[in-house]
Amino acid sequence: MPTATQGYAAQAADAPLAPFHFERRDPGAKDVAIDILYCGVCHSDLHTARGEWDGTLYPCVPGHEIVGRVSAVGSDVTKFKVGDIAGVGCMVDSCGHCPSCNDGEEQYCETTGFVGTYNGPDEVMGGHTFGGYSDHIVVTEDFVLHIGHDEKDLAAVAPLLCAGITTYSPLHHWKVGPGQKVGIVGLGGLGHMGVKIAAAMGAEVYVFSTSPGKRDDAKRLGAKDLIVSKDADQMAAHAGSFDFILNTVAAPHDLDALLVQLKRDGTMCLVGVPAEPHPAPSVGNLVFRRRALAGSLIGGIKETQEMLDFCKEHGLTSDVEMIRMEQIDEAYERMVKGDVKYRFVIDMATLKAAA
Ligand SMILES: [Zn+2]
Ligand SMILES: [Zn+2]
Repeated sequence: MPTATQGYAAQAADAPLAPFHFERRDPGAKDVAIDILYCGVCHSDLHTARGEWDGTLYPCVPGHEIVGRVSAVGSDVTKFKVGDIAGVGCMVDSCGHCPSCNDGEEQYCETTGFVGTYNGPDEVMGGHTFGGYSDHIVVTEDFVLHIGHDEKDLAAVAPLLCAGITTYSPLHHWKVGPGQKVGIVGLGGLGHMGVKIAAAMGAEVYVFSTSPGKRDDAKRLGAKDLIVSKDADQMAAHAGSFDFILNTVAAPHDLDALLVQLKRDGTMCLVGVPAEPHPAPSVGNLVFRRRALAGSLIGGIKETQEMLDFCKEHGLTSDVEMIRMEQIDEAYERMVKGDVKYRFVIDMATLKAAA
């Protein structure tokens, strides 16, 4: 018997989100059922709900920064028990046997692609998956994360499941650490986590931003300083000095101005996919100092657990603003304007009242 589920969904690209009832599977032998306490609000939620990317399936229940309490486990589940605090991020399944899956890099699954927490194919119930703007979720245990943070911090942990891993994975992959100068481009939901994590890894961190007004916040989050990317003198003063740059800005922009900030052998990694292409970067800027321009997508499940453990050990969470479920469209409007410090999180206890 599938379980009645209360959620919040967009029924069409131009419709506001509203209460929506659907069914989730009962936990199978390998499944973990989680009562959702908090769900972060990612820009992907907004783009998907509003049909700004191709392929949104409606009704659309967004949400892939999920923290909750385990309410039931299947008979073969070994890693979780009822009452545990658990998390679910951007993925709920993958093929499990391709080279990427075998390497624990399920986000790069080469056969079926990973199954998104929302808007992915639902093999059990049919149709498509529904995300974390809902009262509970059922996920195979291999895609569920352990949360070790204090319970009072759980709302601020939720954004680690997407914003945290999306920034941790490239910083970890390119071995950011003490003695390195690291740039974070953009100080939004992703960028503010990038600053915290890179600083905790021991790097000297600078924020590149078009907004000089964010300097105090950049420093509070752990950056040494903010470099105003429109200011040619400030940019010239740092040219050729960075080991690694994590670029979180998805809007099309001049990559060359940032690539020239890298040292010889430095890498700039992009984590945002622009709707329109960036202007093509100059090959000369890459060739003459053996610089690299790279990309990275979220992170694998094993690495996500490492990231959560790293954040717990270093006392890192996201800076969040709590909202009620029915405030979601208002929150989207504010996100479009960049008016959030730095992540909205839905208190899922408000879902019942909103229904
Ligand atoms: Zn996300
Ligand atoms: Zn695979």
